[in-house]
Amino acid sequence: MQILDHPGRMQDVADRLRGQGKTIGLVPTMGALHEGHLSLMHRCRSENDTSVMSLFVNPLQFDRKADLEVYPRDLEGDLKKAEAAGVDLVFAPAEQAMYPEGFQTFVDVAELSRRWEGASRPGHFRGVATVVTKLFTAVKPHRAYVGQKDYQQALLVTRLVRDLNLDVEIVVMPIVREPDGLALSSRNANLSSAERRAALCLYRSLTYAEGRVRAGERDAKALLDGVRTIIEREPLARADYIACCHPETLDPLDRIEGAVLFALAVWIGRTRLIDNVLVTG
Ligand code: AMP
Repeated sequence: MQILDHPGRMQDVADRLRGQGKTIGLVPTMGALHEGHLSLMHRCRSENDTSVMSLFVNPLQFDRKADLEVYPRDLEGDLKKAEAAGVDLVFAPAEQAMYPEGFQTFVDVAELSRRWEGASRPGHFRGVATVVTKLFTAVKPHRAYVGQKDYQQALLVTRLVRDLNLDVEIVVMPIVREPDGLALSSRNANLSSAERRAALCLYRSLTYAEGRVRAGERDAKALLDGVRTIIEREPLARADYIACCHPETLDPLDRIEGAVLFALAVWIGRTRLIDNVLVTG
């Protein structure tokens, strides 16, 4: 497995691979790898000649310094996991290489960045859109693999690619969960055992909402109240936002008439977790 740390060198390798007619798949990550990341890598491997994983904790997308500081890092462990998953090349640039002095160009996906995660985390999606664009220009992938776990991000990256005519196919992969339903997340590593138990309220409340929609409930307020009650019953949890919205525009819904996305962000102690469920009817 090759490891590269400079965008220019990465571009040279990508050009050579493309010149040989090889397809390139990219899995962008911030490291602290878990089975969710690995599911993306397996799919990437099955569909491309060369699988690239990027590993970069992007400071630009952290709205809170404290979150960046406690973000779990395990380069050595990550490289082992990537190799075992069949990754051919890891692109792990240093911050200086991605944002050298004088850096001042940003990508802004205007509408999709405003709601939910974007409203709670000012500048977050500008950071995501900018780094994804830079990763795409460095790795030159034919396909990129992202998780539904970060639903709004996946939608935003898909929009970004379309709006800028980037020649990359975005593949969105389902959420990988623990056996008890907790969505895998690098941030789960920061939970105490009591918080780990409390964190189950995210999945529990989403499953509740899905069940009620499937049973015929159409009133968004009733559904949101039910979800909020489940979160509030958990003393260690504090809801940031709870969304019942259109899966493509992310506009809030009053009545459920077709597909609906429930998405939420919940503080469990000092750790902020997100999860979602898409109910397509
Ligand atoms: P991150 O390292 O958190 O930036 O995540 C890198 C990629 O893995 C993103 O596309 C995430 O959506 C995806 N991902 C994170 N957690 C999961 C999960 N539990 N299941 C599937 N994909 C995930």
